[in-house]
Amino acid sequence: MPTVSLVTLAAHAAANPRDADFCSSLIAGLRRYGSLTDRQHQAAERMLDRATNPTTVAGEPPRPPAAPVLPGAAGLVAWFGNASRSGLAKPRLTLTVDNAIVQFSLAPSSGKNPGCVYTRVNGEYRGKLLSTGAYIGFGGDSPEVKTILACESDDLLSLAAKHGHETGNCSFCGLTLTDPRSVAKGWGPICSKRWGLPWGD
Ligand SMILES: [Zn+2]
Repeated sequence: MPTVSLVTLAAHAAANPRDADFCSSLIAGLRRYGSLTDRQHQAAERMLDRATNPTTVAGEPPRPPAAPVLPGAAGLVAWFGNASRSGLAKPRLTLTVDNAIVQFSLAPSSGKNPGCVYTRVNGEYRGKLLSTGAYIGFGGDSPEVKTILACESDDLLSLAAKHGHETGNCSFCGLTLTDPRSVAKGWGPICSKRWGLPWGD
């Protein structure tokens, strides 16, 4: 029997987009409770078993290869993971790209997309980022979201700093930056700790 762990589930989701939503819910359960229920565990084992012993169905087209996880997507998943583990009830991040306001917010753990991060551009829902790093767009291509997902982690930090500098508000909590060090950085010490951002001394 295959082992069911965060790593195997994330790898399975990356290779099997059709199972990504189910994997996300299992990952959220594992993160929250540390283990799965017996039924979830059996379902997960069956899913992983199917992947290791595929039975070819006649007439079924081969599955397309999974898209690699983009660096910005991985960065956002890590940030939201840190924020959620720090106890933040509704982690939310606002960035400005090409004058568009892009907002990411963690879906409620009690809802139907636990662990997902919803994306809005100028207030309109444009897709969700799964905890596996896969991104499911909504309503056509969004160049601003694409830019963010393709960012290396340093560039993601630069975007947050830029938003802080240009608007005077922290990308992470939305509060006005007043302390000179926070103004210079673009975010404050509390968000730095909660989201796992560099602060220095
Ligand atoms: Zn803040």
